[in-house]
Amino acid sequence: MLDIKKIREDFPILKREVNGKPLIYFDNAATSQTPQVVIDAIVDYYANYNANIHRGVHSLSQEATDAYEEARIKIQKHFNAAQPYEIILTAGTTHAINLVANGFASILKKGEEVLVSALEHHSNIVPWQMLCEKTGAILKVIPQTESGELDMDAFAKALSPQLKLVFVNHVSNALGTINPIEEIITETHKVGAAVLIDGAQATPHIKPDVQALDADFYVCSAHKICGPTGVGVLYGKEEWLTKLPPYQGGGEMIDQVSFEKTTYAGLPHKFEAGTPNICGGIATGVGLDYMNGLGFDNIAAYEDELLQYATKQLLEIEGLKIYGTSAHKTAVVSFNVGEIHPYDIGTILDKLGIAVRTGHHCAQPIMDFYKIPGTVRASFSFYNTKEEIDTFIDGVKRAVAMLS
Ligand code: PMP
Repeated sequence: MLDIKKIREDFPILKREVNGKPLIYFDNAATSQTPQVVIDAIVDYYANYNANIHRGVHSLSQEATDAYEEARIKIQKHFNAAQPYEIILTAGTTHAINLVANGFASILKKGEEVLVSALEHHSNIVPWQMLCEKTGAILKVIPQTESGELDMDAFAKALSPQLKLVFVNHVSNALGTINPIEEIITETHKVGAAVLIDGAQATPHIKPDVQALDADFYVCSAHKICGPTGVGVLYGKEEWLTKLPPYQGGGEMIDQVSFEKTTYAGLPHKFEAGTPNICGGIATGVGLDYMNGLGFDNIAAYEDELLQYATKQLLEIEGLKIYGTSAHKTAVVSFNVGEIHPYDIGTILDKLGIAVRTGHHCAQPIMDFYKIPGTVRASFSFYNTKEEIDTFIDGVKRAVAMLS
């Protein structure tokens, strides 16, 4: 059981007011708030041991290097990767996906196929389209169903010997659907293709075991798991990371440089060109420690309670339609009311101090499927409360009354 009152004390931002009202932060799927321990870690780094890593003989550099590499090990343990060097620290999910897509440009051949799901964030669509343009590979799509789930029969039919890579999110950011990634990975491997899982929306709620999943790549962003912006994680199986060429060239990623020939560093440095977000990497480890301290089972169970509580009350509002009705969902509720534009509801909620997201949520194909311009999306975290949901429901009712 989580002590929510105590947990809320850990998040200084939850004490502030917005438009004269206590902040109710329901935009957790976009970014999560930051606990004081993570803020302290950031301040501590810049106040006490700010130095460049991996190349200094002096003590500060050593301290910073140790802290950064300890963070990598924390991340490795969290995801249960076999080796610390299978964890590449990136600037975010988007960066991690682009890194892999860029690597596949030298592997994929014209006419080979890659398969994406219809439920993806643009960052797990566009890099692959760019890859297909470069290589002549063919992009195929696993369609979605009305309930916001993947059409698994269509997925089975898309498995072919030409298929080389499947990329699918663990959880949809627009609808909250938890996708059957275990089945997708197992079936894809039977035709010899690799799988990249976009875990940006899953990692705030689920602790993934990359070895048990047998994922080839698993990516996520620190800012959705209590860490800072500008940091992401790319897990890649050693064999894949060895096979892929470096993404960017520069300092840190080399072994020897001469004008005749340059050789690259081993893993993970081969993919970490330039000075990384040192402080951000360290703070990411602290954010994961914080969440593991609460326990991911506790987090998921409580957030599900919030989801059920909000869903029931929302459905009592006349004309309200929820998009994404799978029984397997994280705490995201995406909805519209009649013909009211989502932006208008979001603006009124903001006046009441309630932060929700409106729009297409960087998932335009999903909006096209439902023939809507966007939705209002409320996404809950473990520091939210049922009382906040009551205020939100009143706010939605007020907005609907004003806009109808
Ligand atoms: N994939 C999913 C499922 C997401 O929700 C997001 C963030 N909204 C991203 C990818 C992109 O993450 P970032 O902007 O941190 O790179």
